[in-house]
Amino acid sequence: MRPLLVLLPLIACVSAAPAPEAIGGHAIVVCGERFAIDAPVVLWDDPGGYSAYLEGPHFTTVADPGRRYSPGRTVPDDHPALSPEVAERLRSGSASPAELAAFVDLFVLHYDVCGTSELCFRVLQDERHLSVHFLLDLDGTLYQTLDLADQAWHAAHGNPRSVGVELASIGAWAPGDERGEAYFSEWYLEGNFGTAVTLPERYGDGGQRSGRRVFPAASEGRKRGAVHGQVLEQYDFTQAQVDSLAALTVALHRALPGIALDVPRDGLGQPRWDALSAEEFAAWGGLLGHYHLGTHKVDPGPAMDWERLLRAARDK
Ligand SMILES: [Zn+2]
Repeated sequence: MRPLLVLLPLIACVSAAPAPEAIGGHAIVVCGERFAIDAPVVLWDDPGGYSAYLEGPHFTTVADPGRRYSPGRTVPDDHPALSPEVAERLRSGSASPAELAAFVDLFVLHYDVCGTSELCFRVLQDERHLSVHFLLDLDGTLYQTLDLADQAWHAAHGNPRSVGVELASIGAWAPGDERGEAYFSEWYLEGNFGTAVTLPERYGDGGQRSGRRVFPAASEGRKRGAVHGQVLEQYDFTQAQVDSLAALTVALHRALPGIALDVPRDGLGQPRWDALSAEEFAAWGGLLGHYHLGTHKVDPGPAMDWERLLRAARDK
């Protein structure tokens, strides 16, 4: 016992600046309240966070004012399930989590075709004046950019009722596509160790909190599948992303139970890889790919293993 007692004061002294990966917590924010999640989360006002509340660029000092999100939620006047008082609180962003849950019932998944959350936030915030509630980086870090009481701009008609996440990934491409092949050879390593995502040199540290540059993929090799009947190839997301996405999915389901742990299915019970009709969209509450919202989108692509995600979320 004695050596341990000697060591304790030494350990207590080693606490200067926190390591980058120590920043952030394990909670997401819904209507000002924190909900526990089994994944690292950096909030918009944490050091190293990304804030979509900023009405200007994040990475440069160039003047480019304007909102990148809508405060509160766009609730229709004639919503059958909401009293006028609750609808007004949702519009003003002052609703409780339970009130938000009566309206927000979709979790929309994207990939960013940027490769890292840092570059994704640069494109959304600084270049395109868009937003999304969560960014999920290669190392499994979740960045929350807005309270879920507020509406992000990521999914057109899906924005009012949804929470969105952008998964860092270089995306899916038609087999043999020249640009896709160039990205694949730059970003992925395959060997007897399996498949790994590697951060290209030109990205610098890529904003990765861990300082790592290589991230094991959740499965080996390329996935091939059709979205809207279009055949695409894509490498799997990193194992760290798969784990954090499952944690986020179940945390959202618990905070906003209208987000069912399910995805639109066909007549045989298989996940659908096409767009929903307006009626199907109105009736659905649960997970969606961006591609479910329109035929012009294919993300999160054929590497999104819906059954794996739902199993992992239910097991949490
Ligand atoms: Zn998308």
